[in-house]
Amino acid sequence: MSELQVNRSTFDQVMVPNYAPQAVIPVRGEGSRLWDQEGNEYIDFAGGIAVNALGHCHPILVEVLKAQTDKLWHLSNVYTNEPALRLASKLTEKTFAERVFFCNSGAEANEAAFKMVRKYAYDNFGAHKHRIISFSQSFHGRTLFTVSVGGQPKYREGFEPVPGGIDHVPYNDLAALEAAMDDSVCAVVMEPILGEGGVIPADAEFARGVRELCDRHNALLVFDEIQTGVGRTGELFAYQGLGVTPDVLTSAKALGGGFPIGAMLTTAKAAESLGFGTHGSTYGGNPLACAVAEAVVDLIDTPDVLAGVGHRHQLFVEQLEAINSKHNIFTDIRGSGLLIGAELTEAWHGKGAQFLAAAREEGLMLLVAGPKVLRMTPSLIIDEADILEGMAKLERAIAKVLAEG
Ligand SMILES: *Cc1c(COP(=O)(O)O)cnc(C)c1O
Repeated sequence: MSELQVNRSTFDQVMVPNYAPQAVIPVRGEGSRLWDQEGNEYIDFAGGIAVNALGHCHPILVEVLKAQTDKLWHLSNVYTNEPALRLASKLTEKTFAERVFFCNSGAEANEAAFKMVRKYAYDNFGAHKHRIISFSQSFHGRTLFTVSVGGQPKYREGFEPVPGGIDHVPYNDLAALEAAMDDSVCAVVMEPILGEGGVIPADAEFARGVRELCDRHNALLVFDEIQTGVGRTGELFAYQGLGVTPDVLTSAKALGGGFPIGAMLTTAKAAESLGFGTHGSTYGGNPLACAVAEAVVDLIDTPDVLAGVGHRHQLFVEQLEAINSKHNIFTDIRGSGLLIGAELTEAWHGKGAQFLAAAREEGLMLLVAGPKVLRMTPSLIIDEADILEGMAKLERAIAKVLAEG
């Protein structure tokens, strides 16, 4: 087979234009480094948007995936399989959850969660109890239900009519939530840290208050940990650090370390409402995905890796502060573990893309979160040398953007 030659301009000819990828095409990755078609090297602070939690091509993940490819790729849920049962056993052992539903992405995990909380309220309290409350600026995925629960109207625009019975209140505002709550609410959905919405952590007191309001009104609490989960904050899941236990937790992104998988975790009681035939996914619980995810969880859920996230957080923050003391470009540096946001000064709001492009030209992959925040979600085991080299590149990129005005 001869290989078809493709480059970045091929994208514009053959792909739906819903993305605007950077000008280069990476072809190979190892740890926190990547190389493009031209052989240019990059330091990766993006981590595939909080997905490559163990870097690129981690040797153990490669080995596990290769071993599974020789055994079994797919069955469908007409059969169960060993990797799925092992992964679910570990996730239930390590969390509050007693039951797991597997799917292929974050949006699908949330879709399952949102359907389940509606069905649970319907089964236990009646059809009137169907309202879902979530937060302004939250992000829960791109399906019609998840953009509806998400708190960013721009993602719903033009796709109406969207599912109803959903209200949004400001994040970290307990009084607003209290005013919106009543016994018609079936669930409150929240990210422990708003990820796409600008890397905004929940106050611990707010999170406790949300839990109390849910209890008072017999509503389930859903934590969307698709971005914060699987070690990102230095705990296996962020709820463990907040000291607030949800009834439902969704995971994806880092769970597969780069192999697509999503999971919804919940209690045995809530799970009863997704009885036989109520929901499903052909690929969900795929043996390849579950084998990789089991290894991801094994590798990340160790005292070493989790403590290392805290040390790396310190280094990121110190380095960003040093850049800021020279260039005065950030008004805030925040986040938890290796989910870090640096808010740009007002003159640069809406111009994050310039920093991303300049960083890429310097050989650094970076992200934004909304119009005014640079976001970093690197590998949880990124080398200190890579952090320092990446920060030197970031400083050069920032100096360049500032010089160009
Ligand atoms: C990325 C993300 C999603 C959506 O996940 P997909 O895999 O893109 O569907 C949902 N919620 C949060 C908090 C996310 O960060």
